[in-house]
Amino acid sequence: MTFDAQWWQATLDWQPDAEQSRQFESLYALVLKGNTKANLTRITERDAFWEKHLWDSLRGVVSLFDQAELSVIDIGTGAGFPGLPIAICRPFWYVALVDSIRKKTAFIASAVQSLGLTNTQILTGRAEDFAHRRDHRASYDLATLRAVAPANVCAEYGLPFVKVGGSAILYRGGWEVQEEVELARACTALGAEIAEIDAFQLPETQAIRHCVVLKKVKKGMDVFPRSAGLPTQHPLGAIEGATPVTPEESEESDD
Ligand code: SAH
Repeated sequence: MTFDAQWWQATLDWQPDAEQSRQFESLYALVLKGNTKANLTRITERDAFWEKHLWDSLRGVVSLFDQAELSVIDIGTGAGFPGLPIAICRPFWYVALVDSIRKKTAFIASAVQSLGLTNTQILTGRAEDFAHRRDHRASYDLATLRAVAPANVCAEYGLPFVKVGGSAILYRGGWEVQEEVELARACTALGAEIAEIDAFQLPETQAIRHCVVLKKVKKGMDVFPRSAGLPTQHPLGAIEGATPVTPEESEESDD
């Protein structure tokens, strides 16, 4: 498959310019190289990288591309997805990339330098801690989370970073009714509501994906997110007695 401008235009109604196409190629080379040193991603085959990392990262936010300025925080970014493709494609947006694993943020730091990106900030540590810092709390227009945790846990990680009027986008594979019920309950506590559940298929493999858009409608309670570890141990909004929905195995590294 050739992932040229026509392919992007046909599948996403948007296309990278020459510089962005070059940066996609560089990012792919950097990820392959980085993978030999650290376990960054299982998606290493060229076609899969373009579809599951680049295209999928951008699909969730392409509807916002007409916004002149946006501050984004990508939580649990791993090797930088969706955050790095977003930073490449929107150089005038600001993108913070958070991960608790230093070898991943070290990779991102070197990638950002090689790519010449000047619109990112790299944060090593847990979302639960950064979200209580004055310089990050309720400071972003948008939080993104892909393959990080169950949806209600992602809501607790992400929404405290978002300003009232801003949103969080949860990148999901499949989507189940129970997840939605639990997410809706979590959102009530976090001052947000489910604004949209956007179901779509990847353009080549036709794999099912969902982007769940949460809108922050009011200030959340100061206690959220709870201390590191608690959101996963006692997920907010979980239905008592119900078996927790384990998201289908992530295609990502599992640490
Ligand atoms: N978003 C990336 C990586 C998914 S793997 C992608 O889709 O390709 C999940 C990542 O989330 C891991 O790198 C893990 O270290 C990070 N993570 C999980 N919980 C976290 C937390 N509470 N704070 C910060 N990072 C977290």
